[in-house]
Amino acid sequence: MKKDRFRYSIIGVLLCAAVLSVSINVLNDRELEGEDMGSLSANAAGLSEVEFIRDPAASGPGVTEASGELEDAKDEGAASDEGKASADIESSASSESSPSIGDAPVGADEASEGPGAEASEEETEAASETEEASESSAQAAAYEDGEQIAFSQDWEFASFAAISSGNAVYYLGKGERKGIVIAVNAGHGTSGGSSVKTYCHPDKTPKLTGGTTSAGATKAVAVSSGMNFKDGTPEHKVTLRMAQILKDKLVSESYDVLMLRDGEDVQLDNVARTVMANNIADCHIALHWDSDGLSSDKGCFYMSVPDGLKSMYPVSGNWQRCEELGDALIEGLKGQGLKIWGSNPLDMDLTQTSYSTIASVDIELGNQSSSHTDADLELRAQGLLDGIDKYFGY
Ligand SMILES: [Zn+2]
Repeated sequence: MKKDRFRYSIIGVLLCAAVLSVSINVLNDRELEGEDMGSLSANAAGLSEVEFIRDPAASGPGVTEASGELEDAKDEGAASDEGKASADIESSASSESSPSIGDAPVGADEASEGPGAEASEEETEAASETEEASESSAQAAAYEDGEQIAFSQDWEFASFAAISSGNAVYYLGKGERKGIVIAVNAGHGTSGGSSVKTYCHPDKTPKLTGGTTSAGATKAVAVSSGMNFKDGTPEHKVTLRMAQILKDKLVSESYDVLMLRDGEDVQLDNVARTVMANNIADCHIALHWDSDGLSSDKGCFYMSVPDGLKSMYPVSGNWQRCEELGDALIEGLKGQGLKIWGSNPLDMDLTQTSYSTIASVDIELGNQSSSHTDADLELRAQGLLDGIDKYFGY
């Protein structure tokens, strides 16, 4: 009996050890499974954006953070344009400005998330790029040559426009089109534009610098009438002629062109023109001549972004590419032997800049003392084309 009891005790001890060993193995497997599950969920998120955003609670906390990134990536896609070569560097800066970013800084996310979340971010970027590419080609195919384009109230900031009943005109590039749309804005030329006002900034904060409207005002005239050249020619006539010459050159070089004003008068104010450019074009160039009272030609310059605006949405994610485009245009004009003003660029708080989500520049092609024959305008158009080529890497 004693012998049997001893034998049973041994069997009991062995059984306990076996159970213990199995338990430890199961525990280890569970820990591993936890990691794998995390990365699987994150990967799944990359594959199905919509589902993922709709149901963040179904995943762990790490994945919820990733959902912030997905939304950011979507904002970035929506706010920025397609097919810009040199402006891509600013894409991450652009996401910093999006309202949804505040709670999820990009750098912090990378540090706190595991490898699974990184994979999700990559996949999200890939998905976003595919989306942008398809939008771009859809957009390029969406318009006919010479098509009139109406303003849409669905566009971001659309409700800030006071005059938006007019149409822009779309022109297709000749030959093998580049798939790049240049919004050409012949400055001024909206009848009734100076009798209504629009907010200077989308957040309704006061204007920082002087100009047609002085600093401190929260609203400015929707479109000013422009100046008169020394010879009496109104600025809006010269900007329109300039726009037509530039459009012909761009189209010949296979750029598509969105003419924001294609006639003497367009019922689109500065906000409307900017919003339209944001949604259809890859960059926005507004043509002006300066009104400075000087009796000699001061040369060309562009309006750069005042420091005080650089933290405001959407300027915060966009001002670098505006200035990059401005610098490229000035280089192009200089290359054509045109005079550049010694104080270029000039910081100016403009409606155009404040509402732009694409590379957007107000370029002053001289002042009221500048000669503005077709030959002068031709030279400026070639300089601008050279600058545009440089900006887009051609
Ligand atoms: Zn002007």
